[in-house]
Amino acid sequence: MSIGIVILGRQGAGKGTQAVRISETFGVVHISTGDMLRAAAAEGTELGLEAKLIMDAGNLVPDDVINGIVKERLLKQDAQRGGFLLDGFPRTVGQAEALSGYVGGKLQLAINLDVPIGEVIARMLERGRDDDTTEAITRRLELYEVKTAPLLDWFSDEGILEVVDGSGTEEAVFERLVSAVSKVHAV
Ligand code: AMP
Repeated sequence: MSIGIVILGRQGAGKGTQAVRISETFGVVHISTGDMLRAAAAEGTELGLEAKLIMDAGNLVPDDVINGIVKERLLKQDAQRGGFLLDGFPRTVGQAEALSGYVGGKLQLAINLDVPIGEVIARMLERGRDDDTTEAITRRLELYEVKTAPLLDWFSDEGILEVVDGSGTEEAVFERLVSAVSKVHAV
């Protein structure tokens, strides 16, 4: 059966880099909502341009918009067959509820890639993306605590939450992630 994994954690925790490596290692499709929105912005679609304004301010794209994008992506054959690793989604309880409605029992693991606030701020300032201004970083971290952190309890109640320490070298974190994913899915 194909598997569904979500990776949660503050922005700057290293989710993107690790998600790419994990999806290659386990043969699942990497779905990053941030990458999808940035691609739409670069193409200059109406949705993309609206999303860019929201992203640059550090705000969240409305649930109904992002839920629709993710649903469509999950329906594609690669994700249906090979399973998926969602990176950057869900970010609100409303998104988690929508996701569980789409995929139900396929969702087998929610990883919290845990990195302290001080460390993620330093990493984001080094990264220098368009939306990595001090104001947007502050706003995103606020929204994470208010909107996304409650998902940790939500997934814990579902019995699928694993906390992985995201501090240290990329390699050390990757090894911790591989061992967490290996509990539910063979390499
Ligand atoms: P990320 O690449 O995951 O850091 O996302 C970059 C930006 O895209 C976020 O700060 C949000 O503005 C937007 N975004 C990405 N994923 C979502 C989501 N699941 N819900 C709402 N907004 C999102």
